[in-house]
Amino acid sequence: MSRPPKNKIVEKPPLFNIFKPVGVRKRNLDKIVITIDEYEALRLADWEGLDHAEAAIKMEISRSTFTRLIEKAHQKVADFIIHGKQLQIEGGYIHFRRNQLRCRECGNIYPSDVVNLYPCPVCGSTNVENIAKNFGHGRCCHRYGQNK
Ligand SMILES: [Zn+2]
Ligand SMILES: [Zn+2]
Repeated sequence: MSRPPKNKIVEKPPLFNIFKPVGVRKRNLDKIVITIDEYEALRLADWEGLDHAEAAIKMEISRSTFTRLIEKAHQKVADFIIHGKQLQIEGGYIHFRRNQLRCRECGNIYPSDVVNLYPCPVCGSTNVENIAKNFGHGRCCHRYGQNK
């Protein structure tokens, strides 16, 4: 039996997880899946501008693992732009360091830890969307943090 891959650490869940070209019906599109760890590699290297060694430390993985992740992510983004597919962000062996919540009343997005659902700081509503949970995460991430 092969060992499952080690969990990688992702700072916070992505706010958007489905992308598609304008004017094409979803059912006519091939699907590309970018895993959440590939998304995080893009965010750290291409958005925050970290080098591979720095980004690998943030995700608690080796530099060579990071390089493999970012290469896969680049290829998928290129495929998406060039061929016009449906791109979805999901899955991957990950846990989140922090969470984000979206207020269903006023639309405010604000930081949170992974277990506590704090009320919206703008309008006080407790009707909030747990973004980590949309990716199947929450308590598992917290437990991971406790075990270290
Ligand atoms: Zn609100
Ligand atoms: Zn988790």
